[in-house]
Amino acid sequence: MRRDVRVDGVVQGVGFRPYVHALATRLRLAGRVGNDVAGVFVEVEGAPEDVGEFLASLARDAPPLAHIEHVHVHEAPPAGAQGFEIALSDAHGARNTLVSADSATCEDCLRELFDPADRRHRYPFVNCTNCGPRFTIVRDVPYDRPLTTMAGFPMCGPCRAEYEDPRDRGFHAQPTCCPDCGPTLSLGEAVDPLAEAVRRLRRGEVLAVKGLGGYHLAVAASHPTAAATLRARKHREDKPFAVMCADVEQARGLCRVDEQSLRDLTSRRRPIVLMPRLGDAPVAGAVAPGNRYLGLLLPYTPLHHLLLRDLGEPIVLTSGNRSEEPIAYRDAEPLADIADAVLDHNRPVHIRTDDSVVRAGTLLRRSRGYAPEPVTLARPCRRPVLACGAELKNTFCLAKDDHAFVSHHIGDLENLQTYRSFTEGIEHFSRLFDVTPRVVAHDLHPEYLSTKYAHGLADSPDGVELVGVQHHHAHIASCLADNREAGPVIGVAFDGTGYGPDGTIWGGEFLIASLTGFERIGHLAPVPMPGGAAAVRQPWRMAAAYLGDSVPGWRPEWDAVIAMARNGVNSPLTSSAGRLFDAAAALLAVRDEINYEGQAAVELEQLADPTVQDAYPVRVDDLIVQGIDLLHAILSDRGAPRPVIAARFHNGVAAAILAACVQARDRSRLSTVALSGGVFQNVLLLTRTAELLADNGFRVLTHRRVPANDGGISLGQAAISACR
Ligand SMILES: [Zn+2]
Ligand SMILES: [Zn+2]
Repeated sequence: MRRDVRVDGVVQGVGFRPYVHALATRLRLAGRVGNDVAGVFVEVEGAPEDVGEFLASLARDAPPLAHIEHVHVHEAPPAGAQGFEIALSDAHGARNTLVSADSATCEDCLRELFDPADRRHRYPFVNCTNCGPRFTIVRDVPYDRPLTTMAGFPMCGPCRAEYEDPRDRGFHAQPTCCPDCGPTLSLGEAVDPLAEAVRRLRRGEVLAVKGLGGYHLAVAASHPTAAATLRARKHREDKPFAVMCADVEQARGLCRVDEQSLRDLTSRRRPIVLMPRLGDAPVAGAVAPGNRYLGLLLPYTPLHHLLLRDLGEPIVLTSGNRSEEPIAYRDAEPLADIADAVLDHNRPVHIRTDDSVVRAGTLLRRSRGYAPEPVTLARPCRRPVLACGAELKNTFCLAKDDHAFVSHHIGDLENLQTYRSFTEGIEHFSRLFDVTPRVVAHDLHPEYLSTKYAHGLADSPDGVELVGVQHHHAHIASCLADNREAGPVIGVAFDGTGYGPDGTIWGGEFLIASLTGFERIGHLAPVPMPGGAAAVRQPWRMAAAYLGDSVPGWRPEWDAVIAMARNGVNSPLTSSAGRLFDAAAALLAVRDEINYEGQAAVELEQLADPTVQDAYPVRVDDLIVQGIDLLHAILSDRGAPRPVIAARFHNGVAAAILAACVQARDRSRLSTVALSGGVFQNVLLLTRTAELLADNGFRVLTHRRVPANDGGISLGQAAISACR
């Protein structure tokens, strides 16, 4: 009996063919297995009960990195095949395969790395079919060595033998290599690059270290001056640095690691995990100034493991770039005046990818280890879609059938290099996933570079249909797509800034929204933003704008700005929730000026005492939330400790959201609420709001697979366009 089988999903580069080979051989089946541009195909012949057992085991026992979506089985006439073989790859035909994300070094490879008797003992590029680089080295599909950045490293005899031996862990591991045939480490002219790296870190020098998705900058975390030096050279003022620890035990010496964080920290995706730092954590002050949280990650390449073990203490590990620029990945040239030395290697990185960031189980930045895993859409695309995303924290998304491929984190589209990552990334994804977009989605903001890029495509000869998607509708659609739903729901979109079709700046919005449309049914009462962009950089301006003349003489230096707001000079109106948090932070003297987006709100959350349960009252009439009430309450509560005030403010916002949602439910009969937008990265606000809503009979949708911030916008745009 013979069966032909097609397997769809993440099945290339994850040891699937060797797995099938081993399974078929064990069951004494004949036939073959191979990769093609559509995934994996299998032909099996043998006794009916053996074929049956093969089919039953196929998906159930698949290797850890495989993600199987469908198994199609067809009957076929027996061909009298002898033995079971792995077929050569076929690069023709329609492409429909998925590329695996990069994966942290597995336990088997770690044993090999530290086994003095192994021929790969301390070799920094050990990997196998269950781990190692994938997305970052793939130039094209199918996933085979000649189409990766390992093409320039011909295998030696022993590696070739392992690669061809179905019983070996290296069997068909495309990046497999050894000290005789693989990439090599270097640090200037040093004979022992690792020992030299460790010596320099101990001296307090700044080291560039080549990783999977580009270069990092590293210093010893406890060195008294190294982190400050790095901060000064990188021109990064306050934004916290991440710290890499050798293992969980070392991480527990720095942070309180709860179970959720432990799962993320040790997952094969290896994101940076933000956790509450211990008071006596032995890291220099400049690592995360004024921050109660620390971002930790564990080693994810053999090189990291060797470096951390030899150094014997944690290192600061931050993206290799100057502030605002994308991570350096082709060579360390852009880091020449930041790093004292470069721990380099000669395996090229094909696509730059930053580390992902997670907090309390939710993604803040989705990149290495996650991309390019697709999100499955509730409504398949009628035509292939490109969604260009937002301006800040940009990602783009290509969608075909029911797959949405959200890109790795691209960054803020405000300099040429980031914009080039964006355009090159779109070309790369289009090729890998064989998507030729017929529909192109973009934000309504005419000045976003992503919007301009979309308009450029519409002008091309084989024109595409453009779909403009309102920013906050995209947020709610992103949350719907994240939960594989289509709506309609009550959408609460709270963020910093988004283009409103009425000429004001939106950002504290209540919508009735589905993937096919939205209606704005409520919002924060608008206030002027005196000085426009200056009001974003200087939160005190928002406090002045909110309070205006209602508190005379509060701070004399506010007078000019209050007059500016009153007369409407360079003061666009905004309903932004982010600006309300800014105003509260300024009143609580958390911060008058910010050095990175959302800083005042981040610090306000950290100030708040989570044990405080009572809330400041807020008027909510006809779904208009009077944010000013919260600020007056802060002023009249000035005798209370600041952590209590900050908590009452958070609780007041959550209560106002509940009140608005109850009014929305009365009006619409809907009882599902989707929470999205960058303000919901605030875990205190998110949990308080979700609890309140659930206690009052609402079903609550939150983000799980893409960030609530603008990194999720492209998915929302794609999900909306898929329905067009
Ligand atoms: Zn491995
Ligand atoms: Zn070799």
